Amino acid sequence: MTTPIEKYIIIHYSEIGLKKGNRSFFEHVLRRNIQKMLNDLPIGPIIIDYGRFLLNLKEDSPLDIIAARLKKTFGIAHFSIAYPGGPEVEVLKKQIVEKIGQTSFRTFAIETRRIDKEYPLRSRKVNEIVGDYVRTTLNKTVNLSQPELRCNIQIYNKKVIFYFERLEGLRGLPVGSSGKVVCLLSSGIDSPVAAYQMMSRGCKVIFVHFHSFPFTDKRSCYNAISLVQTLTKFQNRSLLYLVPLAKIQEIIIAVAPAQYRLLLYRRMMFRFAEGIANKEKAKALVTGESLGQVASQTLENLAATSQVVEMPILRPLIGIDKETIIKHAQTIGTFETSIEPYNDCCSFLVPPNVATRAKIEDLVAIEQKLGDFNDLLFKIYEESESKILEFPEKIQIAGV
Ligand code: ATP
Ligand code: MG
Repeated sequence: MTTPIEKYIIIHYSEIGLKKGNRSFFEHVLRRNIQKMLNDLPIGPIIIDYGRFLLNLKEDSPLDIIAARLKKTFGIAHFSIAYPGGPEVEVLKKQIVEKIGQTSFRTFAIETRRIDKEYPLRSRKVNEIVGDYVRTTLNKTVNLSQPELRCNIQIYNKKVIFYFERLEGLRGLPVGSSGKVVCLLSSGIDSPVAAYQMMSRGCKVIFVHFHSFPFTDKRSCYNAISLVQTLTKFQNRSLLYLVPLAKIQEIIIAVAPAQYRLLLYRRMMFRFAEGIANKEKAKALVTGESLGQVASQTLENLAATSQVVEMPILRPLIGIDKETIIKHAQTIGTFETSIEPYNDCCSFLVPPNVATRAKIEDLVAIEQKLGDFNDLLFKIYEESESKILEFPEKIQIAGV
């Protein structure tokens, strides 16, 4: 049993502040996400207060771990460790000097926000009194534009808190606030980055990975699980489908000229993913496609694959070059796994010269020779494995 101590983390949110009508919804989602993110750690209650959160700390709250996790929570602009002070300014100024006495800095600024207008002193007066005291006691210089140390004081609800260092968050929108999407996740570099981008816009991402087992080994599945594990640190809980495409590939290979196979595989993947999206009540599909990056990603081919689904297909990387995507993957932490070798199901019996300008009529004509493939799509759905990955705590990986 740990006792609460008077120390907080003050969390400022980002764009949520702009969402006037929906603000309390966004606040609710963000608070829930923060709670889940920290659910294995000793912390006190999180209070929504005057447009920011106050996370109450306990004596044994691990600050480093908490800070690392808050840095991975979308929707947070920045946060700081905050201390209770005053409420009288004469007490407050001494507490502040005591806290910063050992810190090395030459210039400083005091910034007070008086939310509670019943406090007897105006913000500017508090700045003056505390600033004068810091200046004379510690022999420091005031610099309001570029101080080496910034001390924020907030006065609200008959309480005063103060804090110094500001730790930057990821910003964006809290995961879940924009609804669900289904991401087609290969085990390459691009699609994990695409998934991350959509999380940053408030989407809860469900993952679908296709493999060609038993024609190939299951290495791509292990890579996909590992990628989802990394990405789950940003959304707490992920659902991943591992889908055996081999049966569909077999019938495509039997009837289709080699250069069309890749696009025909893709059209099946999109159909399947749309089925999963409907089942999971997701509203869009997401891919890691980037225009012109490879032969299958020409405008004609993007149109040929999009044509088979009704749902919007989001391609957050469409205009981004590979080098930038790689840098992004390195920052997110997916790059190392993405470059692990694997057998990509899309290259199974596909020649290097895939059709770059496929005509939709040609693809439709070939598909007509496949018979009723909907039964087969349902069959591979039944043969799919689904996994739930969670962060923190339980990471369930059962033998694929
Ligand atoms: P990535 O790094 O994401 O694999 P890529 O440049 O290799 O991208 P492609 O292989 O052409 O591109 O794949 C384009 C997109 O199609 C991927 O970003 C992904 O969304 C989807 N995709 C490709 N292969 C698979 C797969 N095996 N399972 C699920 N989705 C896939
Ligand atoms: Mg790929």
